[in-house]
Amino acid sequence: MLGAGRGVLGAVLSAGCWVLCGVSSAAHLSAADGIEITARSRAMQPGELVVLTIALPHHADRVNVRAFGRDAVAFADDDRQWRALVGIDLAVKTGTYPVTVDAGGLHARYDLLVTPHRFPTRRLTVDEAFVTPPPSEEDRIAREAKLLAGVWNAPAPERLWNDRFVRPVPGAANSAFGSRSIFNGKARTPHGGADFMSPSGTPVHAPNAGRVVVARTLYFSGNTVVIDHGLGLFSTLAHMSAIDVREGDRVTADQIVGRVGATGRVTGAHLHWAVRAAGARVDPLAVLALLGN
Ligand SMILES: [Zn+2]
Repeated sequence: MLGAGRGVLGAVLSAGCWVLCGVSSAAHLSAADGIEITARSRAMQPGELVVLTIALPHHADRVNVRAFGRDAVAFADDDRQWRALVGIDLAVKTGTYPVTVDAGGLHARYDLLVTPHRFPTRRLTVDEAFVTPPPSEEDRIAREAKLLAGVWNAPAPERLWNDRFVRPVPGAANSAFGSRSIFNGKARTPHGGADFMSPSGTPVHAPNAGRVVVARTLYFSGNTVVIDHGLGLFSTLAHMSAIDVREGDRVTADQIVGRVGATGRVTGAHLHWAVRAAGARVDPLAVLALLGN
């Protein structure tokens, strides 16, 4: 692995995106076998998305990018340039993680330095029924977990999304992404999405194009739509009062897929939007910052 070539740095700076787009993290560069890799992210922390630009010395039909023991979301930008979306799952520990690039016999490695992030923790005492679902729901919960695992394991093999992600509802998100809740002394699964406090009935737009793979009522997330954007990238929109699409539908970016509601295990109306990138749970606000309008 080599340091940054001045030519590469110049080329990247002239694009200027991390200055203009408000993405604060500095780019890191590495090169090997003539492959030059640049990285862009808000931060190198759990729950963040890292966009790698991979410049090749010549055309390759396939580029395989691996990170965190999985194939990353990778796609061709043009003849000699690929991009990869690497999600740092919110449970990833501080450390150095190799990202390997294999492009038709050429190899490169990029070391991702994950720095710590402290997610907020809240402790609440709530009705016990809210913490432990009734035994009568156990079968349903297990069935739905299996359904979702099947969805995550069978992404569309081609890219279905467009260049730009859009906000599913207007207004700012209260990103409680990654926050830990301890209810009655028991730790719950960390919050894997961003919450948008929109009033009930507000139209919910597809954050990007894709295929609807789930459009049904689930125990925890209520009326839920999962959009498969392809190549391992998924959006989940939850707790809706109504669903306006069906499983199997193709949707375009910004198409209305449902309405904000308070279905499932929630206390009030809001939209929960979650994003998975090759299995990693990442903050949708990181997706908007890096790939949004
Ligand atoms: Zn939520």
